[in-house]
Amino acid sequence: MAFERALLVFAHPDDAEFGFGGTVAKWVAEGTEVRYVCVTDGSAGSNEPGVSRDEIRPVRQREQLAASQVLGVAGCEFLGFVDGELEVTLDARKAVTREVRRWRPDVLVGSDPSRLWTRARDYVNHPDHRAAGELVLCAVMPDAPSRPQFPELLDEGLEPFSVPRLWLGAEDADTYVDITETMDKKLAALACHESQVRDLPYEEWVRRRASEVGQAAGMEYAEGFRTFSFER
Ligand SMILES: [Zn+2]
Repeated sequence: MAFERALLVFAHPDDAEFGFGGTVAKWVAEGTEVRYVCVTDGSAGSNEPGVSRDEIRPVRQREQLAASQVLGVAGCEFLGFVDGELEVTLDARKAVTREVRRWRPDVLVGSDPSRLWTRARDYVNHPDHRAAGELVLCAVMPDAPSRPQFPELLDEGLEPFSVPRLWLGAEDADTYVDITETMDKKLAALACHESQVRDLPYEEWVRRRASEVGQAAGMEYAEGFRTFSFER
């Protein structure tokens, strides 16, 4: 299935590439206009003593734009919420809803907000990822489609919009995207997040994970989604 417009909402610079980079490259190649909404400012992206949030913030933004360019993403909005402090506030809900109403995607992509840790219990999920996932659900219902929600958005000319499809990056996937052909692009986009990946064996991780997901679907490499359709 080819989409005309896809909107990806995620917490940090690099989340989209780690989670969905192969899918993004594939959709772009199929002619889909893919746009990004990065909810936080990425300013907690360094653990080095003496490196401030103000120093790291522009680095992460630059890296995200470079990665988006590698994948052919049409645009990336940075909502600027503080990395590590994201909460599902009305402010954050409004900011995400603004983008959903503005871009009116055929498919909205986010992460599974119910995921506390991985099945293998080798990773505890970041609360910003859970919050960003919940913000996406709030936009689907009730914020984007309901006229009484955030009337100031109407003043900006942003009419209500019902999201027709939702795809969540999730371990219990029902839909798999074959990223065998776009794995190299995903890795090239991830390499743009140099401040995050330079000391990590990320290529090995990404190939192993995509191969595990692919196994369930008979593909060499895949990304998995839990999908919802609200079309009637
Ligand atoms: Zn993240």
